[in-house]
Amino acid sequence: MAQEDYYNVLGVDRNASDKEINAAYRKLAKKYHPDINHEPGAEEKYKKINEAYEVLHDQQKRAQYDQFGAAGVNGQGGFGGAGQGGYSDFGGFGDFGDIFNDFFGGAGGTSRHADPKAPTRGEDLDYTLTIDFMDAIKGKKTQVSYTRSETCQTCHGNGAEKGTQPVTCDKCGGSGIMTISQKSMIGVIRRQTTCDKCRGRGVIIEHPCHTCHGNGVVDGKNTIEVNIPAGIDNGQQLRYEGQGEAGKNGGPYGDLYISYRIRPSKDFERKGNTIYTTVPISFAQATLGDEINVKTVHGEKQLKIPAGTQPNKEFTLHGEGVPYLRGNGNGDQITTIQVQIPKTINQKQKDALVEFVQAGGGSITPQEKGFFERLKEKLQ
Ligand SMILES: [Zn+2]
Ligand SMILES: [Zn+2]
Repeated sequence: MAQEDYYNVLGVDRNASDKEINAAYRKLAKKYHPDINHEPGAEEKYKKINEAYEVLHDQQKRAQYDQFGAAGVNGQGGFGGAGQGGYSDFGGFGDFGDIFNDFFGGAGGTSRHADPKAPTRGEDLDYTLTIDFMDAIKGKKTQVSYTRSETCQTCHGNGAEKGTQPVTCDKCGGSGIMTISQKSMIGVIRRQTTCDKCRGRGVIIEHPCHTCHGNGVVDGKNTIEVNIPAGIDNGQQLRYEGQGEAGKNGGPYGDLYISYRIRPSKDFERKGNTIYTTVPISFAQATLGDEINVKTVHGEKQLKIPAGTQPNKEFTLHGEGVPYLRGNGNGDQITTIQVQIPKTINQKQKDALVEFVQAGGGSITPQEKGFFERLKEKLQ
């Protein structure tokens, strides 16, 4: 691909002064800037303009270009890069940002910057509410109090004392941004920065409100009614609209997010909507079967233990678990049976057990007799 002559790209002749090159570049860069010009080929043209300018505005590169052509500046000349990687790679591109700000100023006003006087929504707040296990199951109405910024009631948020009004900043015209001009090699560069007179607010408050000292907001204590829904789980978060921090310039309040922490229970273990419990029964109950009372979050319930129930057998009590947050009904309770072996029994129980074994055709030598008891038997 033939390299287009840099002088032709900028539309200047070979004897053009620096000033003429700068002027031509500014005019063309503005015309073909991809943010302004959406015609096909504009971006390509814009890259070429930058490539040409990068070389021609530099005395040394321009001399080399005049002598050796594009190869002199792109190849072995050691300047590297100019025009190789597209304009995003264009050396020193950042320096031109301010020129483009200037262009945008002409093309689109200061729409790039938010109006500091526009209403802005307040920040959201986080709050952690720790509740009892059963309150999470049954639900509860409670109150939550916390500190937040609130719109000043004296000045209604504008920061000015009663009978006065904030006035538009005369230095920045209310934009909160001021433009500083700096001289540079390619002409005057204009930079935008926060207005130092109004500190970016866009208004000057000559008589600040005595309540909020001109801030428009004050620290306040907010108390809200919270309706804890039955079935809320550990770590779940609910949003309370408009209960966050005050907005600016009459903007709405942010939201409050309450995260729930649930205290553990000594009786129940919860996983989602399922409740887990364990219940001890005797080996006689397990063997013969029984009807027992089992604790659930909804009160005591009867559970039938069939004869021959094995240790660690799980029973499901349908609908005795945690209520579903959305929709009807509850989860289940799963109760695990612990068969207990007695640590001590009386003589009558012992005899009955030996008889129990013998009745099944077995024999047994009870081991729990004491040393002296066994000695006495031997001596008889
Ligand atoms: Zn005030
Ligand atoms: Zn200002």
